[in-house]
Amino acid sequence: MEADRLAGNMTSGNRDVHRLFAATFHSSQMTTISRVWIDDGCIACSLCQDYCPEVFLVVDGEDCIVKDDAGAYFGEKKEDIHEAATDCPVEVIRIEVVEVATA
Ligand code: SF4
Repeated sequence: MEADRLAGNMTSGNRDVHRLFAATFHSSQMTTISRVWIDDGCIACSLCQDYCPEVFLVVDGEDCIVKDDAGAYFGEKKEDIHEAATDCPVEVIRIEVVEVATA
């Protein structure tokens, strides 16, 4: 499955991978976000917080963090999280996905 192959690449920070994954992700119910983090280099533009305030928080206008309770929103807000990762101007948002078992 294409989503499974791409899942291993999601930590690359490559914008094209994010876009390709997003297209696949949106068409599949077989994967879900398991982890979100932010690498060094954030410029605190607040874009991700604007997209998904349940998950991202800009602290003191200097840095962005993934909120402690963000995991509760990974399913509900997956599209917003992927959009934030795709549009982050310095491409530092990382997403890990896992396959979801289906009955
Ligand atoms: S979109 Fe990127 S640069 Fe902007 S606040 Fe979020 S992590 Fe930082």
